[in-house]
Amino acid sequence: MTEQETAGLENLLHENRRFAPSPEFSEQAVAGPELYEAAATDRLGFWARQSRELLSWDTAFTDTLDWTDAPFAKWFVGGKLNVAYNCVDRHVEAGNGNRVAFHFEGEPGDTRTITYADLQKEVAKAANTLKNLGVNTGDRVAIYMPLIPETVIAMLACARLGAPHSVVFGGFSADALHSRILDAEAKIVITADGGFRRGSASALKPAVDAALAKGAPSVSNVLVVQRTEQDTEMTEGRDLWWHETVGEASTQHTPEFFDSEHPLFILYTSGTTGKPKGILHTSGGYLTQTSYTHRNVFDLHPETDVYWCTADVGWVTGHSYSVYGPLANGTTQVLYEGTPDSPHKGRWWEIVEKYKVSILYTAPTAIRTCMKWGDDIPAQFDLSSLRVLGSVGESINPEAWVWYRKVIGGDKAPIVDTWWQTETGAIMISPLPGVTETKPGSAQVPLPGIAADVVDDEGRPVENGGGGYLVLTEPWPSMLRGIWQDPERFKETYWSRFKDMYFAGDGAKKDEDGDIWLLGRVDDVMNVSGHRLSTTEIESALVSHPKVAEAAVVGANDETSGQAVVAFVILRGAAGDGGPDVIQELRTHVGNEIGPIAKPKRILVVAELPKTRSGKIMRRLLRDVAENREVGDASTLADTSVMDLIQTGLKDAK
Ligand code: ATP
Ligand code: MG
Repeated sequence: MTEQETAGLENLLHENRRFAPSPEFSEQAVAGPELYEAAATDRLGFWARQSRELLSWDTAFTDTLDWTDAPFAKWFVGGKLNVAYNCVDRHVEAGNGNRVAFHFEGEPGDTRTITYADLQKEVAKAANTLKNLGVNTGDRVAIYMPLIPETVIAMLACARLGAPHSVVFGGFSADALHSRILDAEAKIVITADGGFRRGSASALKPAVDAALAKGAPSVSNVLVVQRTEQDTEMTEGRDLWWHETVGEASTQHTPEFFDSEHPLFILYTSGTTGKPKGILHTSGGYLTQTSYTHRNVFDLHPETDVYWCTADVGWVTGHSYSVYGPLANGTTQVLYEGTPDSPHKGRWWEIVEKYKVSILYTAPTAIRTCMKWGDDIPAQFDLSSLRVLGSVGESINPEAWVWYRKVIGGDKAPIVDTWWQTETGAIMISPLPGVTETKPGSAQVPLPGIAADVVDDEGRPVENGGGGYLVLTEPWPSMLRGIWQDPERFKETYWSRFKDMYFAGDGAKKDEDGDIWLLGRVDDVMNVSGHRLSTTEIESALVSHPKVAEAAVVGANDETSGQAVVAFVILRGAAGDGGPDVIQELRTHVGNEIGPIAKPKRILVVAELPKTRSGKIMRRLLRDVAENREVGDASTLADTSVMDLIQTGLKDAK
């Protein structure tokens, strides 16, 4: 620990710095303060205007919102559109066919440049192939793929046919894939032989074979993209190679136009708090809000920006901010197949330099990992093209926020901390980069057109300075339309806790300015001797200590205090092995930061934390460990071996 690093820490202990946009930034920003005014004056009129301006409708809608069958919403009633036409064809028709849609970077270093004109042909070919395989409007298609262009092409081909897709993260097991294929009764599975991960070809197709061997009567065919060229078993009559079918198909396909409420996709939530839910999204409202937020939150200038969202498409962020929002806006994007550390820990920054990425959207977990690897790695690359930085997935610890701004953003790029969920479909709470004076660690304000609040147990809005539950008080265009095949669970999960409000399941507080701070899942809130403690705050306190790289906090049953705070920490290299002195130091640090009540009763040093594909910590599994129970369902972890690693490590330490 150098003196300078320790001095940096002092500043962060209570991070009160504010970062206003520069006048030059605000000057050129697509969104100014008038957006809030316009939305406040006439909210539905505002959305209707956004929808007409941002999308191309084949038949104009007659009503903006029908909420008579609440909580089942209909947006842009009577309108007809084709989502894929909006994302691809219309850009070509407008003369932008030569604009790059994707700079694809494979993990081994292979690259492809795909223009909007190329994309139009590829999507038409895939749509024709699916059609030939009997996919009709309304049929479901499962997509189980690495992060390659064909994944996006497959999604758009489904959208073009009005066949809802269900993308299943390529890291999931055959079991997880099987249950999702059954739940959605998918007709076709689109997959690949494999993908490249950490320097080697990792097979995908065998998991599809295993899933289908468990019985999946709805599936008639499997379409297989050749990516790694590894040996792959093909079942005669069922399995087809993409290059032999799509590769040979016609590039002409005339889109049909579908009702605004036509289902676009089903996507299962991460399962951090329970059994995954099949979230249903539809067309017109979803595309309106994803394109609106993508444009305004990231200050998109489609002619000049190069945008990169690092999310896997198996996560909602990949749907809304690597596919639908950016493509509807005619964006040039980077698509990268692999991990940030392959073949070296500077790979992401090398990609930023190579493509002159100007807008980067990633998750706090990735930022903390890069922080742990050290400032000298990004310092080797030219990151000066970056002008907007986004964060999503969990609260960003102030420490990580400031690092992101300084080391990656050159102390000038505004950070947008975006709060939303699979269920909300698009960003809901976030600064606007040319308007908002940002606060490290807070998502701050509902976007223009969005109504959010923090309420107490009785559903009454809390005063500034108070804490409670995050709710959405008005319907929004990209809201989920239900849980697939389960309307009761939809009402029960989101609409029964408070009357006429959507319950997000997150704890939050309003600060003195009325800005919103997210505090973690309501399910994770701890109750220690009658005090309600937030996981996020204690974790941020731990991460603000120079010896800690990552932290996860849970409340474990405790005879004396009801619940006791148990922390799992990953130490930084310099901290040694985490002997009793370090543990004591961390406990004292949390006590100083938040108060004695928040001091963890136990701190366990671990090498990894259990995370979902979107980098969220699965605290329920850690609670199982802390309470010495058998560990629950871990099938949606990005790496399922982590729990074994943690338990073995803890046994060895005893
Ligand atoms: P499940 O509902 O099955 O547990 P999940 O909620 O993890 O799955 P997602 O929809 O990907 O699946 O995650 C949404 C959640 O992520 C939000 O409810 C919130 O807890 C968290 N989140 C996302 N962005 C932010 C943010 N900017 N700040 C704080 N929390 C965030
Ligand atoms: Mg959730």
